[in-house]
This record gives sequence, structure tokens and C-alpha cells, in this order.
Amino acid sequence: MTRIAIIGAGLAGLVLAGALAGRAAVTVFEKSPAPGGRMATRRAEPFAFDHGAQFFAPRTQAFKDFLAPLVEAGVVRRWDARFAELDGPRVVAQRTWGDAPAHYIGAPGMRAVGVHLAQDLRARGVEVHLGTRVGDLAGGPPWALSGADGSDLGTFDWVVTTTPPAQALALLPPAFAHAPTLAARRMRACFSLMLGFSGGLDLPFDAALVKGADISWISVNSAKPGRAGGPCLLVHATNRWADAHIDDDPGAVTAHLCAEVGRVAGVDAGGAAHVGLHAWRYANIGKAGAGAPGAFVDPALALVACGDWCIQGRVEAAFSSARAAAHALAPLLPG
Ligand SMILES: Cc1cc2nc3c(=O)[nH]c(=O)nc-3n(C[C@H](O)[C@H](O)[C@H](O)COP(=O)(O)OP(=O)(O)OC[C@H]3O[C@@H](n4cnc5c(N)ncnc54)[C@H](O)[C@@H]3O)c2cc1C
Repeated sequence: MTRIAIIGAGLAGLVLAGALAGRAAVTVFEKSPAPGGRMATRRAEPFAFDHGAQFFAPRTQAFKDFLAPLVEAGVVRRWDARFAELDGPRVVAQRTWGDAPAHYIGAPGMRAVGVHLAQDLRARGVEVHLGTRVGDLAGGPPWALSGADGSDLGTFDWVVTTTPPAQALALLPPAFAHAPTLAARRMRACFSLMLGFSGGLDLPFDAALVKGADISWISVNSAKPGRAGGPCLLVHATNRWADAHIDDDPGAVTAHLCAEVGRVAGVDAGGAAHVGLHAWRYANIGKAGAGAPGAFVDPALALVACGDWCIQGRVEAAFSSARAAAHALAPLLPG
């Protein structure tokens, strides 16, 4: 069977591996110790924070169909949040999320989706190597992969990157046909501020979109369905502020974001039992232009680059990009 290496076990990598399983010998390499990529959950007992993607609101039938068995398994749950729009400290709109569209989350944390999909892949014979950062591709095709520690990761007929484009470019050879397109797709940064409290939280919303501040989002993470941890808040910086401050001292970033939460939501971060910060250098990206491909395939070099960034910085875009990659690869595989 054709040997295919997939770099990255975020949603795109896991969905693509599932689509190719059985048609090719698929191996997934993920640098983190857990699958899921930016659909992530961080624990700081007794708190748990979805510090990457907050929710997904499926639009396409294909994504709804993909989610149905995960909903059935309880790994994906609906989140009918009390939602607010804030302009600085002023609440300008409030509603409860309903059917149009329905909003979903992973349960008991966002990462559960990746963990479940990776387990399913292993049961179907796909190798999923966690804690394995791919460092180099040589010789190809076929491609000899080595780890960032110099270890031999094997030889593959095709290699697919599902990482953000800057990380893909660092791995792919300069001759990759779509290198200039990848270089032009710039991702925006974000900071996630994680606040855990020993007492209850009394906010008039479960999730809020914020304007007029250096923070863009506040959610009461502990109010999401299926969460067992202590009361906690997850706050995102605006992409604009994060782009300008991504290399700043983390203590200074934390202090500024805490001050913004105080100003906007009246929450005293000084009283938090846990304060954490995560910096995302490659967090989000705007919509690609009309007609942009969902995946970038170079048949001559047997290389593919895909991921949410091909379409838009959204969970559903990662799914759609993986499907586009699988669709493009299918006629190129023997049998
Ligand atoms: C702060 C934040 C908030 C967000 N909010 C939302 C939201 O509310 N709703 C929504 O729909 N989307 C949201 N998103 C976007 C959403 O998380 C992504 O669109 C989606 O998870 C991307 O999936 P992916 O598989 O394309 O990429 P990723 O999840 O980034 O997967 C790529 C994987 O590649 C791995 N990797 C990188 N380099 C290597 C290497 N050399 N070797 C091995 N592995 C490697 C990474 O560790 C990662 O696991 C948010 C993202 C962030 C960061």
C-alpha cells in the first residue's frame, strides 16, 4: 500500500487519516503529547480550560454528518450559552444560543474530540505517534522523515502537512509548487488568559464577544456542558493586540489582559486562585479568497499542504480542508 505520512494530529490531520485509512498505510506524527491541535484543553487542577477553539457552529451537511456519531458518543455536546455582545463594559446585545445555528463543544473538554478520533484511528490500524516533532523531509519522493531529535521516522511515498503555513514552509522543500501561496497566508496571534476561582462566578453571560477592548472574548469555561472542574474564565486577546505583543514579557501580557477583564467584566483577577497564560503565535486567519483550493497538492513531489488556513481559521474549515485533501489524493493513489 502507498505509505502516507501526515504531520499534525489536529482536526485536519485526524480527519484526513480517517479518510485515507484502508486505502493507504497512514502514519500520523504529532509534536504535542496529546492530539487535537488548536482544539485544546489545559488542566490546572481543579480547573480545566479550553484555551484554543471555543465552540463550532456547523454549517455544511458534511460536517453535521461527521459530528453526528460524536454527539451520539457524548464527545461532542451542544452549548446553548447565554451569549452577550459587549462594547467595553457596556452590554449591547444578549441572547441565548439556539438552533440557527446550533453551537457545539467537545466534552468533557475540547481536546476530547481529538483524543476520541485518534483512538478510533488506532483501532483502524493507523499509527498515531504523539510527542513526535517532524524535523526534516529528505530525498523525496519517496520521503525520508526524521524527527527534530534526528531520529529516523521512516520512509513515505506521500507527505501531508496539516500545520499552519509558516510551520509547513519550514518543513517542505523550497521547490514545493505552492510555497509562494503558503508564504502569503499569514496567521494572526492570540493570547489565552486562564483564570480559576475558588468562589462562584456571577456574570450575566456564559460567553461574550467583546469590542472596544484589547480582549475579544470571555467565556465561563466551567459553565459549558459536561465540565466538572472549578469555576473558571477563559479570555482571548484580540488578534490585533496579540500580533503587536506576541514577544512581550508574559507577566506584562498577563497583567494587561487581567486589567482588561476587570474593566470589561468587573472581574477582579487579583482574587483568582489560578492565573495562566498561553501564547498562540499561529492562532487564526481570515477567509481565503473566493475559489481558493481547500488543499494544496504537488503531485510531482508527492506533497500536500492542508489545514484550516486554506479556507478560514475555523474548526469546520479544518474538516473541509482535510476532505479536500482526501478528494485530491484519491485519484493519485493506486487501486
Ligand atoms: C485561541 C483560538 C481560538 C479559536 N477559536 C475558535 C472558535 O471559537 N471556533 C472555531 O471554529 N475555531 C476556532 N479556532 C480555530 C480552530 O482551533 C482551528 O481552525 C482548528 O483547530 C485548526 O485545525 P487544524 O487541524 O487545521 O490545525 P491544528 O489544530 O493547528 O493542527 C496542526 C497540528 O500540527 C502539529 N504540528 C506542528 N508542527 C509539527 C511538526 N513539525 N511535527 C509534528 N506535528 C506538528 C501541531 O502541534 C498541531 O497539533 C481558534 C483557534 C485559536 C488558537
